[in-house]
Amino acid sequence: MNAHDGMYIDGRWTPASGGDTIAVVNPADEQVIAHVPAGTAEDVDAAVRAARAALPGWAATPPAGRAALIAALRDRLAARKDEIAATVTAELGAPEQFAQQVHVGLPIAVAGSYAELAAAYGFEERIGNSTVFHEPVGVVGAITPWNYPLHQIVAKVAPALAAGCTVVLKPAEDTPLTARLFAEAVHEAGLPAGVFNLVTGLGPVAGQALAAHEGVDLVSFTGSTAVGRQIGATAGAAVKRVALELGGKSANVILPSADLAKAVAVGIANVMNNSGQTCSAWTRMLVHADRYEEAVELARAAVAKYPAGDRVGPLVSAKQRERVRGYIAKGVEEGARLVAGGAEAPLEQGYYVAPTVFADVDPGMTIAQEEIFGPVVSLIRYEDEDDALRIANGTVYGLAGAVWAGDEAEAVAFARRMDTGQVDINGGRFNPLAPFGGYKQSGVGRELGPHGLSEYLQTKSLQF
Ligand code: NAD
Repeated sequence: MNAHDGMYIDGRWTPASGGDTIAVVNPADEQVIAHVPAGTAEDVDAAVRAARAALPGWAATPPAGRAALIAALRDRLAARKDEIAATVTAELGAPEQFAQQVHVGLPIAVAGSYAELAAAYGFEERIGNSTVFHEPVGVVGAITPWNYPLHQIVAKVAPALAAGCTVVLKPAEDTPLTARLFAEAVHEAGLPAGVFNLVTGLGPVAGQALAAHEGVDLVSFTGSTAVGRQIGATAGAAVKRVALELGGKSANVILPSADLAKAVAVGIANVMNNSGQTCSAWTRMLVHADRYEEAVELARAAVAKYPAGDRVGPLVSAKQRERVRGYIAKGVEEGARLVAGGAEAPLEQGYYVAPTVFADVDPGMTIAQEEIFGPVVSLIRYEDEDDALRIANGTVYGLAGAVWAGDEAEAVAFARRMDTGQVDINGGRFNPLAPFGGYKQSGVGRELGPHGLSEYLQTKSLQF
């Protein structure tokens, strides 16, 4: 692989301005698999200029024309799905089947949904004696994390393009190869030069330069709350739009009337998927005191079906593995009961962490408050519904959650009282058209579906 391959600016693969590169490591065997350029502020500037130059033409392209090109992009991603899945497996460590179905299947579906929405969206409406135009915000700076390398990109780029915006993407340094394949698909789909641009690089360098660039009208960021806070401050100082998709500590609330065996099994699977590196993962399982020990045994049996190395891949990096092991050690230190797993490395090679279940977790413990981002589930006991609600709402986060009950109406009533952006009722299927985003410190703004598209629009009203 060529180190020049990482920068896609103004419709061309462009050498980076500096000579620094970033090593990409396969987390399953700790081998370096590629190098990509470490972009500088100069590269970001070139990409933003290209995006600005392309903006008037793209914004003026009729929605049907934009829709056709987004559909072509979806088709190119679908045509290369095996290669993309293999790349996600190589740089993130995702098990092959999960890479195919979720890492690639989901973003292809999302791209398809935006091809349709671009054509069907009401970009113009009449309100009283006004015509209101929903116009593109302008140039979007997209900064994405490594946990779902392609999905995180598509969830920003597809709605931005549908809205008529142009984009500069700075993907995570751990997973730039998937981003490179995405840029190739954009090129093959025939999008006009400058409409989409890719700058690989380090967060505090290329990411910071993009967030602060005066030619960027909206910054859309997904990642840690710490960096999100900084980006929000930078954007606020410049009075530019910002969308933040941050962390979570979602509650899986199992009400006494629920099918306990199903709720526990699905709850454990939800956290083991992607090795727990999912911002919406249900990392706190809330169980009524009367059924608590039964749930602990069910959880022990359920997690045994997810051995490290087979169904549960490694974490993305040595840094993340150390972080997660630190949290597990902290859980033991603060007095939680280890039911399965632990801080010891389960395999000699690769950044694996043992799938871990904690019981007797107090809602105030560190492992019940902070985002761990690993295959770690905390079982918390509650006394009654009000207690369950207090615990569910008792963190700074509010991204997702689940409620299980014998009666759907009972579960819905509970979910309506939760301070969180998305709740699955009795294992409700993920809906790629439903708005996804956080209450409280889980973020600002929504992604996916028509709500995700509207993030990239601003309104103008003409009275006549
Ligand atoms: P991060 O927030 O540091 O990185 C996310 C993206 O932001 C990357 O592209 C990175 O290069 C960029 N970035 C980093 N510093 C920046 C800066 N100063 N200015 C602009 N961009 C910057 O996340 P991380 O270190 O990769 O992961 C740490 C923790 O974040 C995880 O353990 C997890 O808790 C959380 N996280 C959440 C999500 C999510 O989907 N909400 C995704 C990844 C990580």
